[in-house]
Amino acid sequence: MNPFKFSIAQQPSEAIAMLAKNNSAALLGGGTNLLDLMKEHVANPSEIVDIGRLDLKTIKQSPMGVSLGALAKNTETAQHPLIRKEYPMLSRAILAGASAQIRNMATNGGNLLQRTRCSYFYDISMPCNKRSPGSGCAAMEGFNRMHAIFGWSEKCVAVYPSDMAIALSALHASVTVLQSNGTERRIKFDDFHTLPGEYPEKDNSLKQGELITSIEIPKNNFAQHSAYVKVRDRNSYAFALVSVAAGLELDGNMIQAAHISMGGVAHKPWRALKAEAYLKGKPATQLNFIKAAEEEMNAAKPLFHNKFKVEMGKHTLANALEMALKG
Ligand code: SF4
Repeated sequence: MNPFKFSIAQQPSEAIAMLAKNNSAALLGGGTNLLDLMKEHVANPSEIVDIGRLDLKTIKQSPMGVSLGALAKNTETAQHPLIRKEYPMLSRAILAGASAQIRNMATNGGNLLQRTRCSYFYDISMPCNKRSPGSGCAAMEGFNRMHAIFGWSEKCVAVYPSDMAIALSALHASVTVLQSNGTERRIKFDDFHTLPGEYPEKDNSLKQGELITSIEIPKNNFAQHSAYVKVRDRNSYAFALVSVAAGLELDGNMIQAAHISMGGVAHKPWRALKAEAYLKGKPATQLNFIKAAEEEMNAAKPLFHNKFKVEMGKHTLANALEMALKG
């Protein structure tokens, strides 16, 4: 680990002032990803700004639904009565991620900012456009079993690792950030994370010097018909091969609207817009769930080692819709 300056911010305004003074400073929330990155020399900030004392830990009802403080811990969020009752999909997604110890430390804002777990990204002896732009992508011709089947580019085929974010995408959340000029802006969740395109070094649309302050989730009427399903190599402490967050708005057995997002398949939470469009106005039947899943997954572009994800995606998506229907 390289030497670094350690600073403590007492107020959000102090944190953004520190970031403004040093563009190689990094914010420390729970530290569950940042410390790994630093130990592996993937991240080498010259300054760490500890934001753990900021008053951004509240989870509360808001006029639009619920507001999650950026520094509230993942465990606290998953177990909050309001989240369990009104947003059970989110609670299940968080509890499907990482381990209890990590969830106890990890913050909501940090969860959104965690970096890919592509093994080449963490190995500084290998080419990686995300870590070292212009060096190449070792995964493209290498072992790419865990990698993307949607939205990848020649520059990067990594997937985004968060479970929590997949549910937030299906729940149409938004991210509130404090800008470097001291004013707030709100980013729609689907616009927060980015596809790799020409610039895989960027994971999201945060600008230099911005601080996430909260995540806002609107009210919904599909809490009773929602599910989060994660398929992984082992039952704990493993990232998704494929995951699906699904919610169904129903009128009797007719689907008014479906809200579906997938994890483990792209560089960002992948909204299953083709499946959503297929299901709208149709009866909630197993056959329609299977057809919707095929509609989505037939557009996938798998790599050499991850063709299995297409079939797995169909089953997982159809299964998640079944589970959402049963509630
Ligand atoms: Fe790096 Fe992305 Fe390629 Fe992985 S997939 S080696 S993160 S450029």
